Amino acid sequence: MVARTHGAVLVGVDARIVDVETDVSSGLPGVTIVGLAERAVNESRERVRAALVNSGAEWPKTRVTVALLPASWHKRGSSLDLGIAASILADTDQVPLSAVRDCLMIGELGLDGSIRSVPGVIAAALAARERGVDRLVVPAANAAEAALLPGLHVSGVAHLRELIAAMRGEAPWPDHEVGGSVVHHQRAVPDLSDVRGQHQARRALEIAAAGGHHLSMIGTPGVGKTLLAERLPGLLPELDDEAALEVTAIASSAGRRIEGGLVRVAPFEAPHHTASPVSVIGGGQGGRVRIGAVTLAHHGVLFLDEAPEFDARVLEALRQPIESGRVEVHRADINVALPARIHLVIAANPCPCGRGLGRGRDCSCSPMQRRRYASRLSGPILDRIDLRLILERPSVADLGEEPEPTSVVAERVRAARDRAGHRWRAERTLHGDLVRVNADMHGPTLRRRFPPDPAGQQVLHAAFESGAVTMRGADRVLRVAWTLSDLAGIARPGRDEVGYAMSLRGEAQGWAA
Ligand SMILES: [Zn+2]
Repeated sequence: MVARTHGAVLVGVDARIVDVETDVSSGLPGVTIVGLAERAVNESRERVRAALVNSGAEWPKTRVTVALLPASWHKRGSSLDLGIAASILADTDQVPLSAVRDCLMIGELGLDGSIRSVPGVIAAALAARERGVDRLVVPAANAAEAALLPGLHVSGVAHLRELIAAMRGEAPWPDHEVGGSVVHHQRAVPDLSDVRGQHQARRALEIAAAGGHHLSMIGTPGVGKTLLAERLPGLLPELDDEAALEVTAIASSAGRRIEGGLVRVAPFEAPHHTASPVSVIGGGQGGRVRIGAVTLAHHGVLFLDEAPEFDARVLEALRQPIESGRVEVHRADINVALPARIHLVIAANPCPCGRGLGRGRDCSCSPMQRRRYASRLSGPILDRIDLRLILERPSVADLGEEPEPTSVVAERVRAARDRAGHRWRAERTLHGDLVRVNADMHGPTLRRRFPPDPAGQQVLHAAFESGAVTMRGADRVLRVAWTLSDLAGIARPGRDEVGYAMSLRGEAQGWAA
């Protein structure tokens, strides 16, 4: 007699289904688990044994083998405990075989039989639905999260005793109403109306949001770089169903608490400059895949304040997600891609002492120090930043004005994105993804097939001929010019849009490339 059920293991942001098969064989009494990573076997067996005994069930008196399939990779983590326990119970006739067959169970067992929450429940629910599993059994603490996904019976259990009673038919399955907890909850995002003055910067945020452009801001400490960056998510469109599910699933897989339904606001992640490469980028750590800030910022904003202070390996490693929208992790037996389509915003002081803007009279840095500081961001990252802003302190006159609120600006952004989306509906990026925003467009394609009007073309040519912009610089100008024309509601960028786009390249202080 073989008992079969399903479990799942989180790898990166996705859950892989594991078939749990238990069979009685001849030999000395005992339970053997096959297919787990070596060290995890004993720990799991001890938890399952104690939990079974403390739930009034019996630990097998025969020889029992639990196989976790496919056996080709070693599973880690405690999420399989529940499936292993159920499978042993069914194989030893303590619950009917049919009660576990079409289930996928995830949860860590406490020694007392309590069922503890695990990360990645949404990913497991997606995998279960894809496999056509009928019932998903999860820790009670994760039930609302699992129930975000329609198309499954979700049961939340707090104790193994509860699960045993349901499997024996002595109590109804503790079903969670699917979809019942979908409250379209909005994280409170700070409003643009809090930012006084800073016309150019507010305009640059609007352009960044409309065209999906990465943005850099150079300015003295305290000029409001963080204040501005935090307001970008509020300008981005609400996440659609697919993006919201992706973002919520990522947060769930990272072990974050999911409250109030699907995440509808674009995420905002701001790792500190002392953060390790793996915590920013993600990657393999101790045989597991760790999700980094770039993945948590998927479909949203990654903000690096004091960017030149970050570990050089972080800045270097950002190149891959910026170019391809994903982070590839290749380790011994792990090969996964973590999604990371981000809006990058970096901020920096003008120089190490922070006072080297404008006339820079108080700056105490040597020219060498300034060059070295600026050069940390050079190359591949800066190359992908279309908008480069130099922030000045607002004047007293600026401070008197009533700034536009986020809702008004976000409406213009939405209209501009609609225009761009319509134009790019048949285009794909070099990596095969759909082009959604102007910043996704490959430079040479844009130049060849979507040039500005003749007057705009003339401005761009003149700048290129005179050496004022490089070829790549011209591509960046053209992408931004398209966004300006989308915001203005005109068919094609002209002289004004190209000229304004050129002014948004932050030429000062050797930061432009
Ligand atoms: Zn300085």
